[in-house]
Amino acid sequence: MQLHEKNIVVIGAARSGLAAAKLLKRNGAHVLLSEFGEINDVTQQELRELGIRFEHHGHSNTAYQADVAVVSPGIPDEAPIVASYLQSKKPVLSEIELASRFCTAPMIAVTGSNGKTTVASWLGHVWSSAGHPHHVAGNIGTAFSDIAENCSADHWAILEVSSFQLDHINRFHPRVSSILNITPDHLDRYQNQFNRYVASKMRIISNQTRNDIFVYWNDDVHIKASLKQHPASCTSWTFSASTPVNRGIFLDNDTLTWSFDNLHTPLMAASEISLPGSHNLLNAMATALIARAGGIPDVAIRTALSNFRGVEHRLELVRELQGVRYYNDSKATNVDAVWHALQSLPSPIVLIMGGQDKGNDYSKLADVLREKTCAVIAIGKAIPMLMDQVKPHVSAFQTAETMQEAVHKAQSLSIGGASVLLSPACASFDMFRNYEHRGLEFKSAVMALEAQS
Ligand code: ADP
Repeated sequence: MQLHEKNIVVIGAARSGLAAAKLLKRNGAHVLLSEFGEINDVTQQELRELGIRFEHHGHSNTAYQADVAVVSPGIPDEAPIVASYLQSKKPVLSEIELASRFCTAPMIAVTGSNGKTTVASWLGHVWSSAGHPHHVAGNIGTAFSDIAENCSADHWAILEVSSFQLDHINRFHPRVSSILNITPDHLDRYQNQFNRYVASKMRIISNQTRNDIFVYWNDDVHIKASLKQHPASCTSWTFSASTPVNRGIFLDNDTLTWSFDNLHTPLMAASEISLPGSHNLLNAMATALIARAGGIPDVAIRTALSNFRGVEHRLELVRELQGVRYYNDSKATNVDAVWHALQSLPSPIVLIMGGQDKGNDYSKLADVLREKTCAVIAIGKAIPMLMDQVKPHVSAFQTAETMQEAVHKAQSLSIGGASVLLSPACASFDMFRNYEHRGLEFKSAVMALEAQS
């Protein structure tokens, strides 16, 4: 398909839709950027300067009648305009599918329910440590469409990829793919059917062949079950912190150990990994394996695994005051991420959680809440759900209307040696612009705390 000869509609004018429209324009396509909501004045001005046709406050007939639709990840298949393209069997492409067609560099694609940003950023750090040219893009910071053409064959494109982006790929072909884990998330977008969400993640390997590598967590039952039904055509490497693996990396007496060609070779001690928590041990293993698949020497892998400082809003240590450590884990927007955060810190923990509920089952946290927390402070619209499902398992349960109030209550409930953890398990949109805004509010409230006598 020669895209420059087609009429293409880009649906959705957020970050990746805008980037896709610009990429298409640069490459001579007839593009219309169509947004159901509002496009702000600054963006409108930019689009005019670039000569990109756009419309907002709804989709016109022209938008419905293009040859190809490029859909932004935020737009569900049920949106009438997307449904109409799908019904008419016209090509519907995700933004990474589009961008990948302009990229000559080998691609690394990282997906999973949790850990994508951490691993993609960590990989960027590994590539920098090794002095190898690369770009990190996708869900993270820069859209793939912004950099795809700049990735020459000697670069690597390191991509963080969501299931929504994978829903509409057809040729997207990473040299190295990875699924870190699959746990229930975003089920509202998959008709509450977990198997659809799993299938969407598994699409990451659909175009890989024997010479490509698929890195996955050996202990993930959903990935395993899916591979049993649809065996991969590519080469699989796995990681595990619990059992030895045939080909990949595992933990042998607290040492990260390669397992290749029937040989076990130590890489580094787990204690040297710079990020805390069992989940980051797994993220480190995935990072190491993907880096090896990308030809990075062990010495650079070891250095980068031991000096990476982590990503903001992910179990980020904000401050220590009177023996109490305050952690910002605002990006923990599902139950599994909260479970890992609680596991990673010593007890007692004062947990601030809540926000906009996504149909979560908080009772899965019952055991770890009992074991690790001394109090929970609930915020946001999820308070009634948390009262039902969390309150019975904790020794103290309070609510707060603002982040500042929550932080003050947390301070008065914590004692020297305790941790205060913001790890919400929920979306942020009921009280904040996004999870970053929520994390920043938490951090400023924490920084404003004064010592108590
Ligand atoms: P994603 O990009 O997939 O949302 P992030 O790296 O931004 O993942 O982390 C999101 C949340 O999940 C954070 O709270 C983080 O501490 C937690 N987390 C990170 N890696 C893992 C993992 N491997 N398993 C479970 N939780 C994780």
